Amino acid sequence: MPHELIRPGEVWLVGAGPGDPDLLTRKAEKLIRSADVIFHDALVGRGVLDLALPGTRLVSVGKRSGRHSKDQKSINELLVEAARGRERVVRLKGGDPSIFGRSGEELAFLAEHAIRGRVCPGVTAASAAAASAGVSLTLRGLSRRLELITAHARAGEKLDLNWTKIADSEATLAVYMGKAAARSVSRNLLAVGCLGSTPVLVVENASLPTERLFSTRLDLLPLAVRTAIGDGPAILLIGEAVRPVTLVSGYAEEVTRCA
Ligand code: SAH
Repeated sequence: MPHELIRPGEVWLVGAGPGDPDLLTRKAEKLIRSADVIFHDALVGRGVLDLALPGTRLVSVGKRSGRHSKDQKSINELLVEAARGRERVVRLKGGDPSIFGRSGEELAFLAEHAIRGRVCPGVTAASAAAASAGVSLTLRGLSRRLELITAHARAGEKLDLNWTKIADSEATLAVYMGKAAARSVSRNLLAVGCLGSTPVLVVENASLPTERLFSTRLDLLPLAVRTAIGDGPAILLIGEAVRPVTLVSGYAEEVTRCA
């Protein structure tokens, strides 16, 4: 087995992609199969974890995994402890580690402890969602810019985003962790002048068999999310580039229209 890919005492932050194991990079798969221990997020699918060799220690540190989710500090410490124990360590994260994945904090902590941390990229949710819907995140003449934001506020805190800066009719906005904040996203964007008719695509469980796609518009977004989206992770894609008209027929049938 390709053990030499990870040296003992080294930590790899590995992008697990959106869920479908076929969307892993070949390198990610090799790293998963080289690890002695894998610390994984809740969003990492079973199909991906099943690629680990028997005997690999699988440790869930995910927030969704239930009662004993670990805070970031404990995760950092677990990584250091495993690396100091000369294990080959993989920190497996949904999507791409560098997009709302706190990879910066983990790499900094490892560096402070003189541990080598390396990164393997992954397919991010926005890319997977666009691919499933058959839309392009950028579109010549319509969308020149792609903006990735998270609309997740800490418990008890208000969303602290500069909506005037974010609103741009020539951009596609990908909102991560936006399900709970759909109402606030819609209200804030409308308040700074975005049109109610701006197309929105909501994609839940992108790339998984349970995937659901909903096409709606900015003013109807809260209703669509409330009525049509389940418990899975979902991303909001907002902007002219995701207008359903651009969907080719094969995809369009699979998209439920809420507008
Ligand atoms: N690093 C990840 C994002 C982590 S933040 C990435 O690059 O994709 C977690 C958020 O990502 C979720 O709340 C959701 O908005 C989005 N997400 C992750 N996996 C998803 C999936 N399969 N389908 C839709 N959205 C997903």
